[in-house]
Amino acid sequence: MAGGTFARADLSADPMAALAQELHPALADAQVPYEAERCLDCGSQTAPAPCTAACPAGIDVPGFIRSLALGDYLRAADLIFAENPLGGSCARVCPTEVLCEAACVLEREGRRPVRIAQLQRAATDRVLLSGAPPAAIHLPHNGLRVAVVGAGPAGMACAATLAPLGYAVTIYDSRPEVGGLVRYAIAPYRQVREPLPQEADRLRAMGVQFQLSTPVETPEDLALLEREYDAVFLGIGLGADQDVSYPGDGLEGVYESLPFIEALKEGRPLPVGRCVAVVGGGNTAMDVAREALRLGAEDVLVLYRRTEAEMPAFRHEVVEAMEDGVRFSWLTLPVRVNGEGRIASVTCQRMELGDPDASGRRRPRPVPGSEFDLPVDTLIKAIGQQYRKEFLGRVGGISAPDAPVAIDQTSGQTENPRFFAGGDAVNGGGTVVEAVAHGKRAALGIDSYLRGPDCPQGRRGR
Ligand SMILES: Cc1cc2nc3c(=O)[nH]c(=O)nc-3n(C[C@H](O)[C@H](O)[C@H](O)COP(=O)(O)OP(=O)(O)OC[C@H]3O[C@@H](n4cnc5c(N)ncnc54)[C@H](O)[C@@H]3O)c2cc1C
Repeated sequence: MAGGTFARADLSADPMAALAQELHPALADAQVPYEAERCLDCGSQTAPAPCTAACPAGIDVPGFIRSLALGDYLRAADLIFAENPLGGSCARVCPTEVLCEAACVLEREGRRPVRIAQLQRAATDRVLLSGAPPAAIHLPHNGLRVAVVGAGPAGMACAATLAPLGYAVTIYDSRPEVGGLVRYAIAPYRQVREPLPQEADRLRAMGVQFQLSTPVETPEDLALLEREYDAVFLGIGLGADQDVSYPGDGLEGVYESLPFIEALKEGRPLPVGRCVAVVGGGNTAMDVAREALRLGAEDVLVLYRRTEAEMPAFRHEVVEAMEDGVRFSWLTLPVRVNGEGRIASVTCQRMELGDPDASGRRRPRPVPGSEFDLPVDTLIKAIGQQYRKEFLGRVGGISAPDAPVAIDQTSGQTENPRFFAGGDAVNGGGTVVEAVAHGKRAALGIDSYLRGPDCPQGRRGR
């Protein structure tokens, strides 16, 4: 079997070289056994190892590392894919700093944790590159059909769990490529495209059908799904950037985060000037700021209306952005964009923190008379995404389309019994591996619903 990892040719041409530079490059083949042997294999018969317990997808981490140490890449990858059909993508994008690697006992002893993500990547890349088929044992077709709306991590995980159980699964996505935000939003220095196509091929090998460039939009589309399928999984994620507007923000040089990132992932980055301001305090704001620096901006300043302590971004993301050279202006709120045709400055207002709001964070309030102008060439708004309320409003029985989709926490079932949901649409925006876990949970929920006593006559398998 060939070794190595996927080539990252897509963005290697100037001026994108800095963006194509991976944050965590693949381990060399020779490093893999050395790194694998550092694992203390600390799980027991009665309790999973802390790394496995910290993985939302529940990957048997010591198990796959043991296989790697023995040189059995195929077995290692089978163990990973058994729990996470996006095991190759997650090896690149998972925030392991707060998950498996944070739980590693070596870390707790003050030593460098095992590089679990890079070992996972070594195993999955080798097997995905080889085109080896999935190991899952398939039950014969059970006569039941499930539609999955959304080919993001939640939808792909749901399909990959249902297909081996004998379900005929079709995934619909409005986009031409699989992967959802992994394909279109996650920073290119983590992942551009590969290995998503190969992960999708494994689903195809399980019998999953993909209907790409096929939005499910209208009441007729939904009626068709209800007619043709026994259950529907909604892995629709979130929608466009939050609709936050300032006077003047129609000027050239003012961008929303998702189109900005998508353009650079497509290899046609939007121009940034020398001075870039990024609005927001979450992980997307950190990504956008670091991407702007890599695109050649000399000064990138994050504007956040609360303080560093309230920032929703992972701490390690903030620290890494600082290390890259991103600057921060806390307690700062943009109120107006100025310029003629093109942005020349942004007027900001100083804030102070008042009483806690519903989220428990102290509410920012403007300091009177504190407005000031900041000369910038570019302003990027990274304030979060909206719910897909128009679509959800058309799904019968969903009572609050402008909020996280309400589900039963053990089955993923929505208020409409034939519809299940998971991923960002349910948690308001999380991580890829959480979406994978939601997709798996809903698949098992669908299986027990369609085979259970509550299921209307005629849908229990034919
Ligand atoms: C900028 C950014 C960076 C991120 N970086 C990371 C990271 O480094 N690591 C990490 O773990 N997480 C990261 N995340 C979060 C992660 O990408 C998401 O949590 C995850 O992708 C959610 O998966 P999902 O399947 O729920 O939704 P999505 O990935 O959003 O997929 C939803 C899919 O549904 C499709 N769809 C929606 N509505 C319809 C419809 N009506 N008809 C047909 N198709 C439809 C969409 O086209 C999309 O393909 C990041 C998010 C953003 C915004």
